[in-house]
Amino acid sequence: MYGIAFIVAFGLLGYSVLPTAQTRGDIKPNVIIILTDDQGYGDVGFNGCKDIPTPNIDRIAKNGVTFSKGYASFAVCGPSRAGLITGRYQDRFGFSRNPLFTPNDARQGLPLTEQTMADVLRDAGYRTMAIGKWHLGAHASQHPLKRGFDEFFGFTGGGHRYFPQDWVKTDVNSVRSESDSYKTKLIRNNNQVEEKEYITDAFSREAVEFVKRNDKNPFFLYLAYNAPHAPLQATEKYLSRFSGIKDEKRKTYAAMVSAVDDGVGRLLNQLEQSGQMENTIIFFLSDNGGPHDNGSNNQPLRGHKGSLYDGGIHVPFAMQWKGHVPEGKRYNHPVISLDIFATAIAQAQAKSRNQLDGVNLIPFVTGKNTGTPHDYLFWRQFDRQTMATLNDSIKMINESGTLQLFNVSNDISEKAPFREDVMVERIDKEYSKWNEHNIPPAFYGLLQAEEYDKLYRRQTEHEKNKY
Ligand code: CA
Repeated sequence: MYGIAFIVAFGLLGYSVLPTAQTRGDIKPNVIIILTDDQGYGDVGFNGCKDIPTPNIDRIAKNGVTFSKGYASFAVCGPSRAGLITGRYQDRFGFSRNPLFTPNDARQGLPLTEQTMADVLRDAGYRTMAIGKWHLGAHASQHPLKRGFDEFFGFTGGGHRYFPQDWVKTDVNSVRSESDSYKTKLIRNNNQVEEKEYITDAFSREAVEFVKRNDKNPFFLYLAYNAPHAPLQATEKYLSRFSGIKDEKRKTYAAMVSAVDDGVGRLLNQLEQSGQMENTIIFFLSDNGGPHDNGSNNQPLRGHKGSLYDGGIHVPFAMQWKGHVPEGKRYNHPVISLDIFATAIAQAQAKSRNQLDGVNLIPFVTGKNTGTPHDYLFWRQFDRQTMATLNDSIKMINESGTLQLFNVSNDISEKAPFREDVMVERIDKEYSKWNEHNIPPAFYGLLQAEEYDKLYRRQTEHEKNKY
């Protein structure tokens, strides 16, 4: 009886009794975001890197689209991730600073009024997992499992040491500094685990396993490697590939990028083996530009992590969706990490209550829409009173009232500032309009750590559960 009901039900819907991956994928594609941490613009093969081969990351670019003007929404980790995961400029909800590792302070993190991409995709029937660095709040209320993810493997702070023997902190309440937070045990869901592998390899392994066990349902994988963020630490396996690099920092950095690249290769191979390659949209990007001191290379861009010159915010950025977006294409209009959310939920036929700032990129990369995804992109560094606005090729930087214009299409290195009053006035007006919908920072961040400690941290020792 059950058998007949089953066949009738599926027969009426026009499905075969066992839907294939292909028919499933036509409805809701899987979504994977591979996010690296502090990787320079020039440190991927698809942007011309010569001394660090990244053949697997380059596969994504070959299989799909490279964004020649692909931007993150901020120049350091936390706010950039807050923008990415909500599809909104993080200044809309006060996430304008890098949060501190404060497991007893619920204020440092994403306001609960914001939906994450995982919230929306999970509601749309996706199995969701976050792997790696979180950095969106270390309080229990901000845990990935509370923010839309079914599964989590990684750490909740802003960075981590890479070798298991350094993970000695079991009591997160005893963490008194950011560097101490780098020594906490890794977490699987809500529990600390005894992990044995080099952290990058462990994250890659988890990503492959997640894909393996989700070949019959749509999934969202947020794979946020902390590599190649400091500290610079790599295993001999990867270091030995770069005996030709004499600079020790660059050599270790190269090894860390190479470990990520191996992981990307393992993940892509697993997608192929599971028959999921055509059913999966994959984004690859860095959360911000390379810093000045980790051996990274942002060439030909000016500036580094923390700066609103392109070296801080213009990142390696590519996407693939085989059979749906062109292969090997370079897309030249500006796009921003905020677009990933809008793109993903559009394909999942899902809606978010967030007022999104990003747009669905698919019609643009396929050529269906020949316009530009954004008339203007904006960046705000509240504490430095520095702002940037990009209007296709024209970028304006406002450093505490000192205004400069650049044409980033002809002058990618931002070497030739120019001034044109009408243009300045127009762009400045657009910035002000945008900024009207922003709020001041909602919490003290890394730059205010001393002040924060004076005001709150000593209290947290005695009043752990008060706020
Ligand atoms: Ca970063």
